[in-house]
Amino acid sequence: MTLPKTMKCLVKAKAEKGLWLEQRPVPEIEPDEVLIKVERTAICGTDMHIYKWDDWAKNNVLVGLITGHEYSGHVAAVGSGVRRVDVGQKVTGEGHVVGNRSRNARAGRFHLDPDTKGIGVNLPGAFAEYLALPEFNVIPLKDDVPLEIGAIMDPLGNAVHTALSFDLVGEDVLITGAGPIGIMAAAVAEEAGARRVVLTDINDWRLEFASKVAPKTRLVNVINENLRDVMTEIGMNEGFDVGLEMSGAEPAFNQMLDHMIMGGNIAMLGIPAKPFPVDFGKIVGKALTVRGIYGRQMYETWYKMIALLDSGLDVSAMITHRFEARDFQKAFDLMETGKTGKVILDWNAI
Ligand code: NAD
Ligand code: ZN
Repeated sequence: MTLPKTMKCLVKAKAEKGLWLEQRPVPEIEPDEVLIKVERTAICGTDMHIYKWDDWAKNNVLVGLITGHEYSGHVAAVGSGVRRVDVGQKVTGEGHVVGNRSRNARAGRFHLDPDTKGIGVNLPGAFAEYLALPEFNVIPLKDDVPLEIGAIMDPLGNAVHTALSFDLVGEDVLITGAGPIGIMAAAVAEEAGARRVVLTDINDWRLEFASKVAPKTRLVNVINENLRDVMTEIGMNEGFDVGLEMSGAEPAFNQMLDHMIMGGNIAMLGIPAKPFPVDFGKIVGKALTVRGIYGRQMYETWYKMIALLDSGLDVSAMITHRFEARDFQKAFDLMETGKTGKVILDWNAI
């Protein structure tokens, strides 16, 4: 197959709200890189920060960047040194490109490498017809994994990594924040053998939607319902064994502290918008463990994620909308309403 010289892509072309569809050269690949023909992408909260051009985006993203990091497609070309990946293979990829200098990278703890750069944040992204990616980052997909599921495996990986940070078998789990990651974490916790899963939010639309993806989870709008009463109703008399914080909201974290069992474990993925005070007396008094979670484990989380999908985890209901990539503006407008699950862009007909 001869590759085109140029491609269409979504670029942060101006320091203002929006993304712009541009024509750019198809990336050239290094010997250790793979060229992916991107076919489906999903829109992430991070993309919305870049789209809106908020303070985080202004401080972390350079104007001119091709955005996007949730994607799937087929391999279009491989560099001369590539051994593990073949042209034509269905793939997705890890969006964190790691260095090889730090202590953690040298020790194989790639997800803890401080030199990590993000596709679609610091490096050219996947909202494009073609993406160049190190072979190391490429994740082959089996034929029975739909492309659009491949495109949401990046946030699913956050959910899996956080949910599996602590043993869930037979445990009572509290998840705060029913965003896409919190909802998928509830589905993972159900699948992984938790006894009771409770998912909280303050947004009824999100909780109603969560019931489609995680049907066995008890959904709680903490504005209308008292969490202690819910615990009594579902037969809990102590506290949650495991907490997964997935909102970044101060009240959610404080509520979690108040409803944990003595000796419980908290995995914290949510990123607070600004620092907030924490009552460490509660953490000490309850002998809690609080673990920060960043990204996902390379590549153990991918292995587990594929295994969970193989063994019946179904997150297809997470995808609520599909658009042609050329209609990206409609997709971003819809994302801004907050009333969506994952929104997919199809790059095949652009
Ligand atoms: P999201 O913003 O879509 O979802 C957060 C949800 O929390 C929203 O539905 C919101 O209504 C809810 N919420 C707000 N206040 C609440 C409260 N008091 N109680 C319960 N819920 C409340 O986010 P997402 O895309 O699902 O991501 C989840 C979090 O994880 C975000 O904070 C995001 O920044 C963070 N994140 C972290 C990493 C990492 O590597 N650590 C990676 C991806 C995302
Ligand atoms: Zn993402």
